[in-house]
This record gives sequence, structure tokens and C-alpha cells, in this order.
Amino acid sequence: MKTICWLMLAMSAILWEQCATVKSKWDKHRAEYEKYDRPIEYASLENSLPPLAALPPLPAFPEMPDLSKLIPSFLKKENKNLPLAKKEPEVAHAGKKKIKKSPERKAKSNPIYRLRTRFTPKDDHNIHKASRFSYPVGFPDAKGYYVAQGFAVPNKNYGNMLHLGEDWNAVTGGNSDLGDPVYAVANGRVLSAKEEGHGWGKVIRLVHTLPDGNEVESIYAHLDRIDVRPGDLVRRGLVIGTIGNAGGLYLAHLHFEIRDYHGGELGGGYASELGLCLHPGEFIARHK
Ligand SMILES: [Zn+2]
Repeated sequence: MKTICWLMLAMSAILWEQCATVKSKWDKHRAEYEKYDRPIEYASLENSLPPLAALPPLPAFPEMPDLSKLIPSFLKKENKNLPLAKKEPEVAHAGKKKIKKSPERKAKSNPIYRLRTRFTPKDDHNIHKASRFSYPVGFPDAKGYYVAQGFAVPNKNYGNMLHLGEDWNAVTGGNSDLGDPVYAVANGRVLSAKEEGHGWGKVIRLVHTLPDGNEVESIYAHLDRIDVRPGDLVRRGLVIGTIGNAGGLYLAHLHFEIRDYHGGELGGGYASELGLCLHPGEFIARHK
């Protein structure tokens, strides 16, 4: 009996050491990955739309070693006697088709799917708070997109007035981003979602309550499609619409603004002063 106890203790020590080695490997690789989490580089205006500088390829992630090989066979045999977890009953759906998982279960097991679901009225009020922001395209870090016309840049086509938002474009250029998903940058509520005319096209306006109680508005313009309705509660990362060209007025892109107030006049996208418009990229980088 004593020998078995000592054996078990020795086995646990070996397993513990293996786990510590694996964890340190993963920590090291995570640190390497974080190096790639750098701020978006903003391209200059004036039709020069260079793609983002190419990043070196990501290092290969280490494979998880098969720890089960370390478990002695006599322990494995004992484990066979353990009661098996109850099998989930299959859920029958309308028609003859049977699927293994109900949509709810699928949603629970997939964090990305969960991110993109709408809130229900039963949700806790606190989770409506916009505690984190991400980019409106290429969720969550704008991968594959760049800012074609930056914030506060004077535009000679509009009497050198300042651009009040950012124009997001796919690095593949032209109309290649037409129909690409547009994501809610944070948890919030839909203020309005409609055709605004005057060069705006379809526009969605969201209001976000920050953890400190302040409210900011995010504006998504020139959309091809609108997927939300006024009053909807949205989660960060929910697809709220798609990138458009304002009915053929421009090459497809997303005009995106963040304002330090909400519900004001939509305005013209350009003005001689920035007013309460915030630098969208900077704001998101600070609230990631
Ligand atoms: Zn714009």
C-alpha cells in the first residue's frame, strides 16, 4: 500500500512538472503574439493608399504534448470504472432532420458566436456598459483594413474642411470591401438606423455608456445594408450592417465617427472645427 502511495506521489510530481513546462512555453509564445498587437498605422490622405506594412509570419504555436502517455496504465484501467458523463440527448427539430446540438448550446460553446448575438431584455444592465471597444471592421483588430482618410485631415474637395471621422477601407482596395461586415465597436444601443441622404447613404448611430457613466456615440456611414433597428441593444462585435458606397456615390468604404455626445445633428462629415468629435482610432486603442 505504502509503495503504491509513493508511486502515485512520484507520478503526480512528474505530471506537475510537465504542466509547468507546458505553461511556461505557452507564456513565452503569448508574449511573442502580444508584440503583434500594435496600433493601426494610419495611411495619409491624397489618394495614396498604401497597404499596411507586411508583418513577419507568426511563429508556429507549440503543440500540446499528449500528457495521457505519462499516466501509468494501471491508473487508466481504474479510470475505466469511473461513471461516464451523461450523454446529451439529441434535440429533434422541425422536419425529419436531427442535429446533435441545439442553436443555444452551439452559442454557449462558441465565444465568437456569443459575441455576435443581440442582448435580450433579461440581460443584466451592467453588461450593456461599454467596457471594451474594438474596430468597426475586421473584428476585432481591423486586420485586412486601413484608414484611407484619417481624422481631422483637411480635404481640398470640401474647401479644406476637416474630416470628422475615419474612412476605413480593405487593403485589397477599390470596391473589394463592398458588402463586408460592419461591427458594433462596443456594447450599446441603436439610436437610429436609416437612409440619411445628402451623401451619407444608410447610417447607423449607436450610443455607448462607458463604465464611468459618460456616453459616446459611434456613427457608421455609407452602408450597403442595415441589420439593426432603433432601440436594439447590441454587443461589441455584433454585425450591424455591411460596407457600402452610399448608393454608388463613392468607392465602397466605411465612414466612421466617434463623438463625445450623442443624438446631435448628423452634420456633413466635414467641418472647420472638430467640436466634440473624437479621434476614432485613438479612442478605440485607449479603450481596447
Ligand atoms: Zn469619411
